[in-house]
Amino acid sequence: MKLTILGSASHIPTRDRNQNGYFLETAEEALLFDPGEGTQRQFTLAGISPGRVKRIFISHFHGDHCLGLPGMMQRLSLMQVSHPLKIYFPEEGREFIQALSKASKFTAHVEFEFHPLKAGFCEENEKRRIEAYELRHSTPVLGYRIIEKPRLHFIPERLRETGLEGGEIALLEKSGKIRKKGKTIRREDLSYRDKGKIFAYALDTAPCPAIPGLIRDADCLLMEGTYLRSEQTLADTFLHMCAEQAGEYARDHGVKKLVLTHYSERYKDMGAYQKAVVKVFENTHIAKDFDVIEF
Ligand SMILES: [Zn+2]
Ligand SMILES: [Zn+2]
Repeated sequence: MKLTILGSASHIPTRDRNQNGYFLETAEEALLFDPGEGTQRQFTLAGISPGRVKRIFISHFHGDHCLGLPGMMQRLSLMQVSHPLKIYFPEEGREFIQALSKASKFTAHVEFEFHPLKAGFCEENEKRRIEAYELRHSTPVLGYRIIEKPRLHFIPERLRETGLEGGEIALLEKSGKIRKKGKTIRREDLSYRDKGKIFAYALDTAPCPAIPGLIRDADCLLMEGTYLRSEQTLADTFLHMCAEQAGEYARDHGVKKLVLTHYSERYKDMGAYQKAVVKVFENTHIAKDFDVIEF
């Protein structure tokens, strides 16, 4: 998977940081998490066509996570993309989705599919699962877990030895075995399956019991680190996470890479911020706008 950071600020954008916005490319399709204000333009600056987005996931309805939704809906409509745009959000936010999708006059040339969710939601196909978890914040919030299923890869040399061609290979992939020149060829003798990747998304939240299930064994965990421990009181008051707490979660639940984001604008020296977190969990990436993280 490939994650592009379109914004890494919390409520107040800065000269270098836009409000939230996270573009995730999976083997199947492209997803967008929490389009904050200005996300549409961030796509342009990142050199990515916003028309690639198939699904948008809103964690909660604070402005820094959803004010860019009208812009994205109208942009995809202007582009007349041929696929429906599926929008997932906590079910308590129906009134906000209605307001945002009618924020200004436009003619919809795209089919919008709205998916109000509650914790425990799970959508599965042959390529991946999407799960939603209830986190803890000052308004209903969902964390999302995307689990890719293992993918089949043929080993080119072994495939060549069999002399199989296009249509035959497709049939072998589908049915598991094929007969050629009086011999049975089995799929498992010519291929292997990789381990599907796991992406976990946890913004905004205070520590809570659902987090371990959401993040366990994630190849990449994108988590808020709004404050440092020196501002723990603020984190507790506003139901946010300290970067060090995110590091502890990553360390204790088998996470391979932690990407921190959603910083308070009070932090100007991200070197000091990084130092504090890396002590807790070494494989931490302090996100900047337009960073690309492959995993
Ligand atoms: Zn926020
Ligand atoms: Zn929030």
